[in-house]
Amino acid sequence: MSKKNKDFVEKVTAMEEDFSQWYTDVVKQAELVDYGPVRGTMIIRPYGYAIWENIQGEFDRQFKETGHTNVYFPLFIPESMLQKEKDHIEGFAPEVAWVTHGGDEELEERIVVRPTSEVLFGEYYSKNIHSYRDLPKLYNQWANVVRWEKTTRPFLRTSEFLWQEGHTCHATKEEAEHETRQMLDVYADVCENFLAIPVLKGKKTEKEKFAGAEYTLTIESMMHDGRALQSGTSHYLGTGFAEAFDIQYLDKEGKQQYVHQTSWGVSTRIMGALIMVHGDNRGLVVPPRVAPTQAMIVPIAQHKEGVLDKAYELRDRLKDIVRVDIDASDKMPGWKFNEYEMKGIPVRIEMGPRDIENNLVVLVRRDTGEKEFVAMDDLAERLPALLEEIQQHLYESALKHRENMTSVAKTMDEFKQILDEKGGFIKAMWCGNIECEEKIKEDTTATSRCIPFDQEHISDTCVCCGEKAKEMVYWSKAY
Ligand SMILES: [Zn+2]
Repeated sequence: MSKKNKDFVEKVTAMEEDFSQWYTDVVKQAELVDYGPVRGTMIIRPYGYAIWENIQGEFDRQFKETGHTNVYFPLFIPESMLQKEKDHIEGFAPEVAWVTHGGDEELEERIVVRPTSEVLFGEYYSKNIHSYRDLPKLYNQWANVVRWEKTTRPFLRTSEFLWQEGHTCHATKEEAEHETRQMLDVYADVCENFLAIPVLKGKKTEKEKFAGAEYTLTIESMMHDGRALQSGTSHYLGTGFAEAFDIQYLDKEGKQQYVHQTSWGVSTRIMGALIMVHGDNRGLVVPPRVAPTQAMIVPIAQHKEGVLDKAYELRDRLKDIVRVDIDASDKMPGWKFNEYEMKGIPVRIEMGPRDIENNLVVLVRRDTGEKEFVAMDDLAERLPALLEEIQQHLYESALKHRENMTSVAKTMDEFKQILDEKGGFIKAMWCGNIECEEKIKEDTTATSRCIPFDQEHISDTCVCCGEKAKEMVYWSKAY
């Protein structure tokens, strides 16, 4: 390996050494983001944005398949409108960015840069829903939101981020609750089958639920370092916003009724999960289904006659089957290998003069580093199958990691010992009191991640206070 190649590799800190630095290095070296000029903002670079667009595309496809329509609402919210729902404003006030001036003039009423858009949709729905015939309303918007964060990290916590927010209105509680669960299942499906990230599904505790919701459903995933990441949430809002914004409809019997609402969101945070679930010490690892480029052709000794022609010919043959690209630049092959490993491109296709003579190429998997020789004529069949194997392997590895990083605690001593020595998810019983939840957080910094739909009986008593337990909760340190 030349010195230049060696330097390139060394720019990524080993994750065992300093996970947080590893993350920062990968984000930078894989050319996903740069820091914006205002603290906590990020510039999403072409490669990062291409991955986000693919994620967006799959969510959007499933939203539409389940009957939703895209809309766009304004970035600005008048202060008085945000004040209308009490819990909501209390929850968001500490991280709101205010607009106080327009040009030189001080505004009569301060304006909020949206941290989320429940109130805007509430105001709109109150004007546009009159009868049961107007229901359900199934809207989604792709937008940016602003939350003034004190500590920030690319994708994981940024002052401005991209997301989608679904806002729906229904005639009955049953319909709205069905919607809340349906969208959580969509989120889980995209995470598991598209991003190869296994998730736990469950309900948030009262303390952790969305400000203004009746309850919040969540999917939680486990990162390489044993910390959890909330990867998507779906809220049943009940009639709280409908009452605050007077969203009523005339039912079939001619009676005025409040609508039942939901909201749900997934953000660019999911990019953080993608990096921290699949990445390794050589950089990013992108699952094939989401990868902007699934296979990169690297010609070897490309100055030799016929090599480049054959490489382009191969690309043209494969381009309708997989997302394939070719690097015919004059950089050394070793440099290219490192570059595409850093970017996590699932398969590298090497072809040199001797391979061409033998009508072969070499396929190199990014996830395991394994090489295989494949006859050129078999590639159209072998390559898609290999990509599928990689996709499955990434999911299974992540699931195995999560299982290894899940423990059971019956006492607080066990709880603390697990957190100190191993981290990961801890399954423990809970009495349902917020005091215990707060005490656990204070003593250990672990938070309740979810009350899983799949409950297990671990013991009869709360891990914290020893009183009668109500349910099992997953706890963890989290991003
Ligand atoms: Zn307790």
